[in-house]
Amino acid sequence: MSTQGNNLDPWYTHYADRTAGLAASEVRALFAVASRPEVVSLAGGMPFVSALPQELIAGAFERTMRDYGPTALQYGSGQGMPALREHILEVMALEGIRGGVDDVVVTTGSQHALELVTKLFINPGDVVIAEAPSYVTALTVFKSFQAHVNHVVTDEHGLIPEALEEAIAALRAEGRTIKFLYTVPTFGNPSGVTMSWERRLRVLEICRANNILVLEDNPYGLLYFGAPAPHAMRSVEEDGVIYLGTFSKTLAPGFRLGWVLAPHAIREKLILANEAAVLSPSSFTQHVVSEYLDEADWKGQIDTFRGVYRERRDAMLLALDDYLPDLSWTHPDGGFYVWVTLPDNLDSKSMLPRAVKELVAYTPGTAFYADGNGRTNIRLSFCYPTPEFIREGIRRLSTVINGELEL
Ligand code: PMP
Repeated sequence: MSTQGNNLDPWYTHYADRTAGLAASEVRALFAVASRPEVVSLAGGMPFVSALPQELIAGAFERTMRDYGPTALQYGSGQGMPALREHILEVMALEGIRGGVDDVVVTTGSQHALELVTKLFINPGDVVIAEAPSYVTALTVFKSFQAHVNHVVTDEHGLIPEALEEAIAALRAEGRTIKFLYTVPTFGNPSGVTMSWERRLRVLEICRANNILVLEDNPYGLLYFGAPAPHAMRSVEEDGVIYLGTFSKTLAPGFRLGWVLAPHAIREKLILANEAAVLSPSSFTQHVVSEYLDEADWKGQIDTFRGVYRERRDAMLLALDDYLPDLSWTHPDGGFYVWVTLPDNLDSKSMLPRAVKELVAYTPGTAFYADGNGRTNIRLSFCYPTPEFIREGIRRLSTVINGELEL
């Protein structure tokens, strides 16, 4: 019997212990507020899908129905459609990853892949080492499988290898079982930071030496604003890396299509877990995306996204310089996010209601830590609002922050 929940819920004694990790995320609670039109939301990570060629997607949709109706409307393979998996190989090749069609498992977004991988590896109390800060909804998944999340510090070049080694040694000394390292090495969520190539190699070496899997989550790697990002960690290490990709940021999250590239034995288990969870990923959206990738200049379309987001990143950094020159923040070379550090005496979570009153929303830093840190950080997303709204949002934020400092 679980003690989770509260007695307003007549079933609260019935919930499994693992539901203790299922607190509504801070991001989720914000969505209701932040979606009001008068609020400038710098909170969510919603891709700017209006920049997509809508008519080409409509064409893919029509061809799917015309040419593949009966199969597109049917259950499919638990591993995903081979034609789509071929395209996924082309996408991954842009980040130096080589693999075969049989190596890819299609999932219902990479969020689902996070769930499947965690389900395969985590017993209650097992350790997931996660860079700090870490993607909020990955932390939710780890907690929901009762993992112990151990953060490792990062700097502007990503995860710090020495800190990783120390953490492993300390955990081992406590007799803990470490299953995998979770990292978003390229244009991280929430930090916007990219792990340097040297550190990627070092981190892989440390994990290999310690028999720890690397879970490389890479939704943003192709959204670079200058030179391409360093190649994926998976490009140099096949056996110890589980790689997660997605069409959510380079195409559209509404398709709910992601994928996993995993070592052979793990892949077989993943397919079984995928079948147990969803039978097969959506045949329909796999067909539509596959058709779109067949016909469209999808690389050009990713380039259009890069241009849109680069302009917004520039607008955000400039507005921060202009309105909040005394704070510090990261300078992302791609992706969606800037990570801001507030003065020590401010608390980003308790400041949020005041921000919402000033009609601007952000995500408090504590969402991205499993251990209560992040109080003086906020994550700002530049992906969705126009440059003008971003500037206005930062102006409003400066009013809030300056007001708090005067209290
Ligand atoms: N990982 C990271 C780091 C993300 O930022 C996101 C989306 N915000 C996801 C995974 C999940 O993406 P999806 O399920 O849409 O592929």
